[in-house]
Amino acid sequence: MSSPVSHKSLRPQDLAFRSEVQAFLDRALTDDLRAAGQRTTGVHTEIGASREWHQRLFRQGWIAPAWPASFGGTGWSLQQRYLFDRMLAENDAPILSASGIRALGPLLIHIGDDHLCKRFLPRILDGEDLWCQGFSEPNAGSDLAALACRAVPDGSFYLLNGTKIWTTGAGNSNKMFLLARTRNTGKPQEGITFLLLDMNSPGVNIRPISMLNGDAEFAEVIFDDVRVPISNRVGAECDGWAVAKILMRYARSNNTTSGTLRRSLRSAMRTGQLNGLSSDPAFMIQKAECEIRLTAIETLELRLLAEGRLGDDDDRVPSLLKLLASELHQAISEFGLTAAGFFSLAKEGGQHSADSLAAGGHATSKYLATRAASIYSGTNETHRNVLAKAIIGRL
Ligand SMILES: Cc1cc2nc3c(=O)[nH]c(=O)nc-3n(C[C@H](O)[C@H](O)[C@H](O)COP(=O)(O)OP(=O)(O)OC[C@H]3O[C@@H](n4cnc5c(N)ncnc54)[C@H](O)[C@@H]3O)c2cc1C
Repeated sequence: MSSPVSHKSLRPQDLAFRSEVQAFLDRALTDDLRAAGQRTTGVHTEIGASREWHQRLFRQGWIAPAWPASFGGTGWSLQQRYLFDRMLAENDAPILSASGIRALGPLLIHIGDDHLCKRFLPRILDGEDLWCQGFSEPNAGSDLAALACRAVPDGSFYLLNGTKIWTTGAGNSNKMFLLARTRNTGKPQEGITFLLLDMNSPGVNIRPISMLNGDAEFAEVIFDDVRVPISNRVGAECDGWAVAKILMRYARSNNTTSGTLRRSLRSAMRTGQLNGLSSDPAFMIQKAECEIRLTAIETLELRLLAEGRLGDDDDRVPSLLKLLASELHQAISEFGLTAAGFFSLAKEGGQHSADSLAAGGHATSKYLATRAASIYSGTNETHRNVLAKAIIGRL
């Protein structure tokens, strides 16, 4: 079964664009970078390869496809951006640690604060700053408005105290955008402020947290009297909830899902081929089931794209895509375990091929890491709530 973005469905101008992108990828995506892309199990590729790939995209002028051209974006159409994302996935490009590119940059452009844009956008583009997101706290996840991390004005600074948790990339990032409580009275959402923090400030302590597969992709971050300049505030004091909602809209709409799934399915198929399963009927039926679900998601994405609804502010669309994609991602990682078979458990062994052992280790690690897909970016239960409300509202 071919993907809905196969050659046959593309217009002549898309084909020309595709050739231009493929020529660049053939040139810039070295074997090492492709291998690092293939090894990815978590939400981004290992940091060295991720940074190197960032630099190559930056030099090409393609690091921020979703930004307006006047701010260093590409000026591409939505179709071109979709195609570009798909081609990165098809070619196993490293997955960037990209909260700055995907979320904070578009937010600052949207808010239009000239001072913040001048200070931060160039450093996001050239990769000098890597950003992480400090929203969740030990007692504030799905119920984010319960957050307790406190910022108290002190001259031209806020004094920040409290704890953030599950912060992806905290160990590699030099900057964090965060939500802090600046007022305790009234509705909880109305006492929150959006701040930009230098992670190297005195009083910031990072404690890595191991994931199921042993990676320490996220961390707990503790603030002990950290001074954050008031000039690092985005929006007005106590307006942080509204600012964060704008950021989340960009983060979700700039987050293509089907490419990641195709990447994972290809990886499972490579493992199956290595272990001689390509003509095994049960294996190929499991593959076909994943393929059918993936084609349905791609078709939905393309339909939303054609209707101009991929990235609008209707929160039902990201909820639906997130649910479908995360559940399929978990199913594909289970298919990966079938493909690896015995090798998903074997650590080493004299007669076993090193390639099968490595592929087995990758499949197990991917399976374990993908359990988190139904938790991050909003748990699947909370996305089901959004969809249920939308359906009930129509009855
Ligand atoms: C791999 C990973 C990376 C992450 N990266 C980041 C990051 O970079 N920055 C950041 O700020 N956060 C990050 N998070 C945190 C993530 O956003 C939270 O884990 C998520 O919002 C859930 O919050 P919680 O863990 O506190 O669980 P809780 O909100 O306590 O939920 C516990 C359970 O109750 C269910 N539940 C809660 N409320 C409802 C409801 N109203 N209806 C039905 N069921 C409900 C949930 O679905 C879940 O099953 C990450 C999480 C993971 C797993």
